Amino acid sequence: MGRLDTTTALSWIRAAADAITAHEAELTELDTAIGDGDHGANLRRGFSTAALAAERSAAAGQEPGAFLVDVGGALISSVGGASGPLYGTALRAAGKALPGPDADTAALAAALQAGLDALCRLGGAAVGDKTMVDAFAPAVTALQSAATDDLSQAALLAADAAEAGMRATTPLRARKGRASYLGERSIGHQDPGATSTALIFRALADALTSDHA
Ligand code: ADP
Ligand code: MG
Repeated sequence: MGRLDTTTALSWIRAAADAITAHEAELTELDTAIGDGDHGANLRRGFSTAALAAERSAAAGQEPGAFLVDVGGALISSVGGASGPLYGTALRAAGKALPGPDADTAALAAALQAGLDALCRLGGAAVGDKTMVDAFAPAVTALQSAATDDLSQAALLAADAAEAGMRATTPLRARKGRASYLGERSIGHQDPGATSTALIFRALADALTSDHA
């Protein structure tokens, strides 16, 4: 019960693509307030391309690690904005750190930690800079510290932590990305990238708690 294999990884990417599509207008609105308004369109295009890559990769019988490398590559090549290379790099690094045909909670937490590290190296952001890192980092911490062997339960805790981190970006002043150009005026708005990160972790929990997991 509760391991990430290629079937659940595929369900994750499908669910993430669906959630991004369903929330595209919200992501656009958030990025219009403190950025250039393209986050919804960037991620819709990126995740629809990533979902196609995911179908191909799963059909080719890739293990989850190689699968995430394929999905990350699709995000990097299909998104013009900052978020595509950041998410893509994170997923590629996570995939490279994920051994074998399936992963338990500890293995997935370690892989996502490697993904977060790569994202932070590329973007130079830390927790508190009002970026996707503010949702990603607490989600990884929640996975690492989940007092359960059940990956689907741990993923629910991670999704909750990502959403709390997302909400906590509102009072922050942006120190990275386009929103940082606004200085004080970025305060009072929820970060678009932290919002999409929360959707992606909720999609992971949904995929793992659906009947297959
Ligand atoms: P762009 O900023 O190029 O228009 P998007 O609108 O798609 O790209 O994504 C914006 C989101 O990307 C921000 O809300 C923030 O969460 C994230 N982001 C931007 N720059 C960085 C960075 N240097 N490190 C981490 N995340 C970043
Ligand atoms: Mg933007």
